[in-house]
Amino acid sequence: MHGYDGHPEIELALARLYEATKKQRYLTLANYFVEQRGMEPHYYDIEYEKRQQSCVPKSDGTPWMIKSKAYSQAHLPLSEQRTATGHAVRFVYLMTAVAHLARLRQNEQQRQICLRLWQNMVRRQIYITKAIVSQGAGEAFSSDYDLPNDTAYAESCASIGLMMFARRMLEMELDGRYADVMERALYNTVLGSIAFDGRHYFYVNPLEVHPKTLRSNGIYNHVSPVRRRWFGCACCPPNIAAFSNRLVIKSTRPASTRSM
Ligand SMILES: [Zn+2]
Repeated sequence: MHGYDGHPEIELALARLYEATKKQRYLTLANYFVEQRGMEPHYYDIEYEKRQQSCVPKSDGTPWMIKSKAYSQAHLPLSEQRTATGHAVRFVYLMTAVAHLARLRQNEQQRQICLRLWQNMVRRQIYITKAIVSQGAGEAFSSDYDLPNDTAYAESCASIGLMMFARRMLEMELDGRYADVMERALYNTVLGSIAFDGRHYFYVNPLEVHPKTLRSNGIYNHVSPVRRRWFGCACCPPNIAAFSNRLVIKSTRPASTRSM
């Protein structure tokens, strides 16, 4: 079946699997997914047509993937993209894989895609805390310099994904600016989103919150003034827990065996 996943994630895993096994087919498959994304006719449209005719009732709402191709990072081939667009977690997960592929394959075109989209993101679409995602609608990037403090989404997972992307950029370019982004995102939006008890989390991390106003104004529906135990869409707690766990394991090793 020729197609690609709805949420970029398998690509970065396949690139890691290639590094562990040196089996070329994993790298080839990761690269196939990256290159197919955004090509026309859109895979999601073809798949949606098929499913409507078979198993999906017509009364169902049109999925986000069909309404907004940017939501699934499938609006354009990466080679034609000029800005960080659409669902931000999907974007940084995808770009983590592209930066890894660029290094592993010594591919200059993929390197240029990474540099161009990274620069758009960190120069025009990032908060001072190194959070990304300026709107709750579609959990998405907005446009250049549209960075509201109070309605920001600034999802915890997006900052973890940003750190993963930054790590692959750092490995590709050996430039300390990537590490600076990682560090600031780590302290402000990743570690900052988990409570001291380790059991309560922020899903969104706006820079400005007025607790009394939240309940009376619908534009703040996504904002919580306190960290919560769980979420209907439970991506952030396990992502933060897994990430923090790796940090704890590394920081409790004896200094002589500690790696960066
Ligand atoms: Zn999340």
